[in-house]
Amino acid sequence: EIILSTKKVYFIEGDGIGPEVWGAARPVIDAALEKAYGGEKTIEWTELLAGEKAYAETGEYLPQVTLDTLAKAELAIKGPLQTPVGKGIRSLNVTLRQVFDLYACIRPIRYFEGIESPVKRPDLVDIVVFRENTEDVYAGIEWSSASPEAKRVIDFLVDEMGAKIDPTAGVGIKPITPAGSKRLVRRAIDYAIDQNRESVTLVHKGNIMKFTEGGFRQWGYDLAEEEYAGKVVKEGEDAAGKVVINDRIADAMFQELLMRPEQYSVVATTNLNGDYLSDALAAQVGGLGLAPGVNMGDKLAIYEATHGTAPTIAGKDLANPGSILLSGAMLLENNGMGEAAVLIKNAVEKALAAKKVTVDLAGQISGAEQVGCKAFGEIILA
Ligand code: NAD
Repeated sequence: EIILSTKKVYFIEGDGIGPEVWGAARPVIDAALEKAYGGEKTIEWTELLAGEKAYAETGEYLPQVTLDTLAKAELAIKGPLQTPVGKGIRSLNVTLRQVFDLYACIRPIRYFEGIESPVKRPDLVDIVVFRENTEDVYAGIEWSSASPEAKRVIDFLVDEMGAKIDPTAGVGIKPITPAGSKRLVRRAIDYAIDQNRESVTLVHKGNIMKFTEGGFRQWGYDLAEEEYAGKVVKEGEDAAGKVVINDRIADAMFQELLMRPEQYSVVATTNLNGDYLSDALAAQVGGLGLAPGVNMGDKLAIYEATHGTAPTIAGKDLANPGSILLSGAMLLENNGMGEAAVLIKNAVEKALAAKKVTVDLAGQISGAEQVGCKAFGEIILA
């Protein structure tokens, strides 16, 4: 008996190179599904507008219909969105994460054979970063230097709390909560257990910021003890068949990831640390053009290209569609279509081995020939 299954997935092309990379990636996703399942498992794609395309058509960067649809959706994939400068609009990406409480930004980072890396052993990198996505200094609670709001906050802190702050300071708040930290670490531990990963490393700057970053570390350990007794052990304890939970201070972790990446497997960290760490790790294995990612809440997951809109190469058929394509593969893998995901990853590997690649990779693969975004997509498809 053939059981037909169709997943409804919304897509947002995005700005800049978004339409090009999505245009190159989508046929590969459909072809992989067809090849793996011969029509038994398919995706029903529906476009949603956001960013410049939405503004041109509706006068809004994030139209209500997009928000209403996503509020009821489970799966979406998006290209990069430009943050409109000087229009009083906050980052659309951050807005989507906050509106839909997409609290976990998950980025798997692994090496593709043949790419020249700035480090000696990029093949040792196989790390999945779980970055908290809604709290920390990204919560958007900040006021410009000498604004009346900053002045009120500073007056309060000086008068009521005895703090010493220069009255001309810009002010930002770094909220980090037990609940916010725990739900992120829970996801990382669940993943580690499910995927037979060795360890979960809590990365924080708790030596300096005791009640925020240090809180994250403590709440992570508390959660492991409260909910994973017998499954997760601390570093130094008997780890046979169990996941080890340990922690590292963020600055030391950057050094560790360059020198001993093989000792790390799953990383759970706060928003700002995670932003820096995941880009630095992506650079070790070939750059943002091949780095997939997803923003996940409890109901909705938005898979995304991890790079920006690359305005200097937009519209020139130069961009690498690898990031959004591999994010699509992640979507398949996480939704019962793993065979198609494997086909895509293998196809990307073969395309890299054929040494006909986009401009960002051409310089990193010796003897490579540069091809356009569309052509690279077609080579992967073939
Ligand atoms: P960027 O990622 O757009 O570009 C950084 C560098 O990487 C540039 O040299 C660019 O040409 C190159 N690059 C990026 N993606 C590439 C690809 N697929 N193929 C080949 N080369 C690629 O970062 P930026 O310049 O800091 O940001 C530009 C705009 O993108 C800003 O408006 C920013 O707000 C937005 N942005 C959006 C997201 C997102 O939607 N998730 C993420 C980052 C930046």
